[in-house]
Amino acid sequence: MYNMLRTGMAALIVLSLTAPRLPAAQISAKTVVLTFDDAVKSQLTVVAPLLKELGFQATFFISQRWMKDTENFLTWEQVAELHRMGFEIGNHSWTHSDFSKAETGAKLGEELQMVEKELVRVRVPKPVSFAWCGNGFGPEGIEQLRRHGYSLARRGMQPEVPYGAVQVGPALDVTKHHPLLIPTTGDAYPGWSLEHFKKVVTSAKPGEVVVLQFHGVPDVTHSWVNTPPENFRQYMVYLKRNGYRTIAMRDLLRYYDPLQLPDDPLLKSRFTPTQ
Ligand SMILES: [Zn+2]
Repeated sequence: MYNMLRTGMAALIVLSLTAPRLPAAQISAKTVVLTFDDAVKSQLTVVAPLLKELGFQATFFISQRWMKDTENFLTWEQVAELHRMGFEIGNHSWTHSDFSKAETGAKLGEELQMVEKELVRVRVPKPVSFAWCGNGFGPEGIEQLRRHGYSLARRGMQPEVPYGAVQVGPALDVTKHHPLLIPTTGDAYPGWSLEHFKKVVTSAKPGEVVVLQFHGVPDVTHSWVNTPPENFRQYMVYLKRNGYRTIAMRDLLRYYDPLQLPDDPLLKSRFTPTQ
């Protein structure tokens, strides 16, 4: 029995190592990446149960920055609960600083490790995904992500769309966008409606992926990124009824060939948030 199990495991490992990476053209239409930032408490009490009910995958980007406020933000033990529910846990830094500048970007590695240490303590594996804080990014921070073994990082709708604008951002094109600068197609602001949500999710061309960025549902302390629970339910039910496939950031890895990553011009540029 043990041998059979062992052979089975070995076969699985070989299978996963030899599984061909899917070229961009094979990304199925209606693919949406769901991401949730800042470790807001309602992500465990409101978002996660609804996503489970609908069979949706998602990534939760965790920062320690606001965790002392245990009424409105998750504890590390609650982060582990999200992991045990099958969701991806991503790194969103310890202090949630602006890592777009040379000096701060160079310190990103230390902050990644501080989050990883807490995750290990609650038995959550080391993340492969990161989300840029305040959506700012720069070459020094990118270098730190590479050195610390991160394969994916999500930026905002900027520089294509200004922060705070209720507009449609770029959809992810894996032949164009570097995996450490995955754009946000829709950044959920309180001004969103179901009509705008439909515009965002239908904006992707064949082979492109829609990437959504949410915060709290609701978000009591950060009102500028609040999503009312009733609106959120409408958005998710729309995805379900219309046959969308929702995935986590980590699921994007198979669409990238690590030996042939796109030469994204933004790798050499810097975006500093204005707030
Ligand atoms: Zn954040």
